[in-house]
Amino acid sequence: MTRSGATRFPLVPRQMHNAGNFIISLGQLTPWLAGEAEGLGVDVFPGFAAASPVFDEAGAVKGVRIGDMGVLKDGTQGPNYTPGAEVHAKVTLLAEGCRGSIAKVLIQRFNLAQGHNPQTFGLGFKELWQLPAGRVEAGLIQHSVGWPVDRKTYGGSFLYHLDNNRVYVGYVAGLDYADRASSLSRRSSSSRTIRR
Ligand SMILES: Cc1cc2nc3c(=O)[nH]c(=O)nc-3n(C[C@H](O)[C@H](O)[C@H](O)COP(=O)(O)OP(=O)(O)OC[C@H]3O[C@@H](n4cnc5c(N)ncnc54)[C@H](O)[C@@H]3O)c2cc1C
Repeated sequence: MTRSGATRFPLVPRQMHNAGNFIISLGQLTPWLAGEAEGLGVDVFPGFAAASPVFDEAGAVKGVRIGDMGVLKDGTQGPNYTPGAEVHAKVTLLAEGCRGSIAKVLIQRFNLAQGHNPQTFGLGFKELWQLPAGRVEAGLIQHSVGWPVDRKTYGGSFLYHLDNNRVYVGYVAGLDYADRASSLSRRSSSSRTIRR
């Protein structure tokens, strides 16, 4: 993309080939999976965040502790205070997303980042848009790079065309971008200095 137009890639980069893939909505898949799991006898605790890992005598992870309930704003125990329960398991699988709070504790405790590439982070949004009939081609995937970011900044947009005239539209930028607002204000304050 440029400010006023767009140029197509002569070749679609290999990692953006979409042959053989299907669009699956996590918002639909996750509740379905939870229902299947509960049917198999799995206890699902929605609404309870794990607060800390729990260790056995040997120092290995044996589960998590759920956060206390009924704690007042000032941190004291209110009338409905209930201490968080411990959930023990043979295997504890952490799936907190990037930069999970329990993962951070364990990464530090077991030195898991040693000798590995540092994590990199991006910032993005995704919205679901309902468009007028005739503008959506279900299954079409469009990506863009370039404007509005400059050449030094990692980022781009995506449009995923769904059924019923809907599209997912989103944008992601690497979090190592230079803050244009602060560099502009630095520039303007230095130009003021020169004028003086
Ligand atoms: C804007 C944007 C658009 C994206 N679009 C796509 C896309 O179209 N297709 C695609 O394949 N990927 C997409 N991704 C990437 C995809 O969303 C992630 O790779 C994926 O969601 C990671 O899954 P996850 O299960 O590891 O973590 P997450 O999806 O982040 O799930 C972690 C979950 O754990 C919960 N949690 C965290 N800590 C605790 C705790 N202590 N106790 C209990 N629960 C906890 C969180 O609330 C969250 O629900 C997109 C990402 C972004 C930011």
